[in-house]
Amino acid sequence: MAHDLVVIGGGPGGYVAAIRAAQLGMNVGIVEKEARLGGTCLRVGCIPSKALLESSHKLEMARHDLGRHGVRVGDVSFDLATMMRRKDDVVATLTRGIDALMAKNGITRHAGAGRLAGAGRVEVTASDGRSTVVESPRIILAVGSRSVVLPGVDVDGHFVGTSTEALSFDAVPGHLVVIGGGYIGLELGSVWRRLGAKVTVLEYADRILAGLDGEIAAEALPLFRKQGLDIRLGAKVKSARAVGTRCVVECEGQEPIECDRVLAATGRRPATEDLGLDSVGIEVDRRGCIPVDGRFRTSAAGVFAIGDCIPGPMLAHKAEEDGVACVEAMHSGWAHVDYDLVPAVVFTHPEIAAVGKTEEQLVAAGAAFKKGVFPFRANGRARTINDTAGKVKVLADAATDRVLGVHIIGPSAGDLIGEAAAAMNFGATAEDIARVCHAHPTLPEALKEAALAVHGQAIHA
Ligand SMILES: Cc1cc2nc3c(=O)[nH]c(=O)nc-3n(C[C@H](O)[C@H](O)[C@H](O)COP(=O)(O)OP(=O)(O)OC[C@H]3O[C@@H](n4cnc5c(N)ncnc54)[C@H](O)[C@@H]3O)c2cc1C
Repeated sequence: MAHDLVVIGGGPGGYVAAIRAAQLGMNVGIVEKEARLGGTCLRVGCIPSKALLESSHKLEMARHDLGRHGVRVGDVSFDLATMMRRKDDVVATLTRGIDALMAKNGITRHAGAGRLAGAGRVEVTASDGRSTVVESPRIILAVGSRSVVLPGVDVDGHFVGTSTEALSFDAVPGHLVVIGGGYIGLELGSVWRRLGAKVTVLEYADRILAGLDGEIAAEALPLFRKQGLDIRLGAKVKSARAVGTRCVVECEGQEPIECDRVLAATGRRPATEDLGLDSVGIEVDRRGCIPVDGRFRTSAAGVFAIGDCIPGPMLAHKAEEDGVACVEAMHSGWAHVDYDLVPAVVFTHPEIAAVGKTEEQLVAAGAAFKKGVFPFRANGRARTINDTAGKVKVLADAATDRVLGVHIIGPSAGDLIGEAAAAMNFGATAEDIARVCHAHPTLPEALKEAALAVHGQAIHA
């Protein structure tokens, strides 16, 4: 079968690229090896993790927060099977939605693993082993990423597993050891801690949440510890393995830790193996990423790559932006994704969100900047919802006042960052944000106040 465009991989990068290409009039095929479209994000990433975070947060609120509002709920308990079923239902509904979008846009689904088989050819091998060849002058590689496991960590898919297993434990582990203090480890560690597990987080670095602003990460650390996460910094894991029905984790210079389950959350790498890249002469870089130019073109004519399998932040919305820009570039010759303005969110409680440069990056670049900070404890809305931990921090160019970075830890940070991202995309100054009339009482007023604070003009602090 011949198409104008074939996309290998049905995650947020691939299926969004397919839809945009169909909107632009292309005859599109999409190749996906899993039974369901949606990729890591929908099946075993963003969506199921956020569903469990929400359910476990509601439990936490019922236990520890509602009483402060005068709401009495008596003994609170939970049913893990129902929680998991709800999560699975959310995933199923959304994946069915993608099927409907494929049908609506006339996109042909090819079920099976795709492999480049020379210029303009993709060999698709179905689960029964049968192969067909799909032809197209343009092919997008959107194959995503997979978990990276440290040497010595013996993942068995049950006692010692990755985020995929930790999204579906059938019982609350007595003691869960999380290797890695990044966003996946902290989000899933939070879920299981709220559900009653003792959770130990082992982080090699001297801080959590590498890559995010240091001041914000430093503010998060004691909050997470206070919630009960036993976060150990500078912990170099040498091995982790199942021993009978338990696990043993060995860390340099520490007593071995015995626990019930281990979650290896030490990052992800592009899933670029077995793709037939050599058949068209594409070489990956040392991290396994497929190198591309500004229009997502690989070194092979007619072959493009997007999402987690190319350099850049491994985030679903970044993959989507790549997908749209890649297809629009094929169509119009022009595309642009501003990787400096890709927001990042950690869905712990409080949430953490960021867009733009961190303070460390600005210092390292020798940039002259001003900083405005506003605490949620001085925000009326945060008081009314009894959620006052955290702050908003705005970094602006000292000469032009242009906003260079916004970093938030606090209630609904993941939603608040949208305004900052929009403002920065329009090249806003701190004064521009400060002069916008924000509704009262709302959390976004904290962003306005932090923008005012850049010039020492915050009203409520
Ligand atoms: C636990 C967890 C939580 C996360 N939470 C968030 C979050 O809150 N927000 C966020 O932005 N990001 C989050 N992410 C990251 C996000 O899931 C990824 O950045 C995103 O899915 C990348 O999209 P993609 O389309 O590039 O790749 P993927 O979503 O990985 O999709 C790639 C698809 O390609 C298919 N595929 C691979 N090889 C082949 C082949 N040879 N033939 C056919 N099909 C193939 C795969 O089966 C997969 O469906 C999370 C990830 C994890 C693991």
